[in-house]
This record gives sequence, C-alpha cells and structure tokens, in this order.
Amino acid sequence: MKKIGVLTSGGDAPGMNAAIRAVVRKAICHNIEVYGIKYGFQGLMEGTIEKMEIGSVGDIIHRGGTMLYSARSEAFKTEEGQQKAIEQLNKFGIEGLIVIGGDGSFRGAQKLTEKGYPCIGVPGTIDNDIAGTDFTIGFDTALNTVIEAIDKVRDTATSHKRTYIIEVMGRNAGDIALWAGLADGAESILIPEKKEKFETVVQKLKRGHKRGKKHSIIILAEGVGSGIEYGKRIEEATDLETRVTVLGHIQRGGSPSAADRVLASRLAAKAVDLLMAGKAGRMVGIQQNEIVDHEINKILHEQHTINDDMYTLSQELSI
Ligand code: ATP
Repeated sequence: MKKIGVLTSGGDAPGMNAAIRAVVRKAICHNIEVYGIKYGFQGLMEGTIEKMEIGSVGDIIHRGGTMLYSARSEAFKTEEGQQKAIEQLNKFGIEGLIVIGGDGSFRGAQKLTEKGYPCIGVPGTIDNDIAGTDFTIGFDTALNTVIEAIDKVRDTATSHKRTYIIEVMGRNAGDIALWAGLADGAESILIPEKKEKFETVVQKLKRGHKRGKKHSIIILAEGVGSGIEYGKRIEEATDLETRVTVLGHIQRGGSPSAADRVLASRLAAKAVDLLMAGKAGRMVGIQQNEIVDHEINKILHEQHTINDDMYTLSQELSI
C-alpha cells in the first residue's frame, strides 16, 4: 500500500485531530503517502482531497474539533454517491481509507469495503456508544466537560437549595450520564439502558430534603427524553424548586484530555497497521487496555452495553 486517505465524519469529537495526526505520521514513517479528505463522505464525493505532509498535522494534537472538518451526507448513502466516492479515490490513486467517526460513518465505510474498497474504522464520538471498544475517542473529554459544569451548578444549587436536572448528550447511550453521575455523586442517574421509576426518583428527593440536604442533582441522558419536561414533572411532584440545565454542544468542544489524545494516537496507528497488513472492513478499539480490531459488519449488529456494576454502585452511593 503506497497511498492512503483519511477522513472524519458524523459528529466531531475532541481527539479527532490527534487521530488524524497519528494516521499521517505513522503512514509517512512507513513511506506511505497520506491524503486528507475534507468534509467527510460529502467531501470525498466532491473530491476535496489534499496530500498531507508531516507539517500538515503540526500543532493540532491539543485542539478540539477536526482540522479535516466533518459533515453528514445523505447523498453518500446512495449507490450513485458511493460510486462517485470510489471514482475520486481511484483518481487520486488512494488504495485504502481510514474513517474516523461513529456507527453511521462505519456503515459508510462498510459500504465502500463491500464494493471492494478497503476501509478501516476508528471510533470517534463523545457518545461511547459503539460495541467492540470500551472507549471511543472524545468520551473522556466530554465527561470532564460535564463534570466541570456540574461542579459549577452544584455551587449555585447549594446556595439556593434547589434541585437540578442536568441533561447530557449520548444519543441512545447512557455512558456520559452514568460516568458523570458516579463522578459527581448525583442523586439519580436516568439512562436509556435502565428504567428508573419516576416514583423512586421522587421518593429519593423527598427523603434527601427531609434529611436536610441542601441540593439534589439528577443527571438525565438525552436518550431518556427532555430534561425540561422531566424537570416540570419533578417540581410538581416534589414541591421543590427545580431548575434544568441542558449542557448541549459544549460537550463536544474543547481541548482533548490526555486520555483521549493517547487513545486517539494508539487507535489511529493501529488502523494504519491494518491497512498495511492488507486488512479491510475492520474497526479498531480498546478493550481492557489492549488495542483490538473487529469486523465492522459484526460491530454494527451489536449493542454497546453499559457497565452494570457501575450502575449498581452509583445507586448504592446515592442512598
Ligand atoms: P455520531 O455518532 O457522532 O453522530 P456518526 O458517524 O454515527 O457519528 P452519522 O450522521 O450517523 O454520524 O453518519 C455520518 C455519515 O456516514 C452520514 O452522514 C452518511 O454520509 C454516512 N452514512 C451513515 N449511514 C450510512 C449508510 N447506511 N450507508 C452509507 N453511508 C452512511
């Protein structure tokens, strides 16, 4: 393999730049040319492709976002769009492609692989919702952003004796909420994977209030529903002053944590290794601190699961 391409796709995640850097440097180290494709699969179809050098990825390891930009492309989901993409790859003589993104992006990578074009997926999404890897690039940074925000909310919650509902991201996965809840001692953690009865949450809040608690924090994953609606119901049911904070896109930005930079570097380098070994249609991941790889097709049919022990612990610690 003499020429490879790299793109970022779907929602951006802190650490994607560190992954791009690792792809470029690792490939050049092995005398492989690297082409950066801007704006994900959309840019691939349109041919926004540039050769990258060692210096192209200088001074980006600590930056959030993605220097290759990202996009969501409906056109690429069509047969015609995928053909266009392959034509561009052939035009540039690119022999293999590294796709950094979430499960949607891997569906795209799988489609190209099935058409005979080798792709390797690198999991980059703050949601931590991909099977076959304990962590995705960006999750740790997002989690730290959430913790920082909750710490601040906690100060004002205490001053005013309020209940706070904090809505966090994660799409259909509860990992951000679960980890943040455990790290910040939330009273209740509401995640799509576990059904916590509304009555149980209310009872816990009332009990805490009776015990003299000055504030309560409830973390709700966006996959459960609207924090605003939940807040209204809680206020009505408890008679406690309740406020809702929806953290939104601040969770996607910011300088990547050390853990995300290291993870991104390790996963991206492994993706280059796989292309060099002639592999295709695989996703790299980390499991029990070992870098692993799995068939994308298999991963797309599996569900990421939360750590049940952590959930139980969070409940035991928030009595
Ligand atoms: P995140 O989890 O952060 O949202 P993602 O990779 O899951 O990231 P999506 O918007 O689902 O984000 O997918 C990114 C892009 O991948 C889509 O815009 C589309 O171009 C491509 N894609 C998604 N599904 C398919 C599919 N079934 N076939 C071909 N391409 C697809």
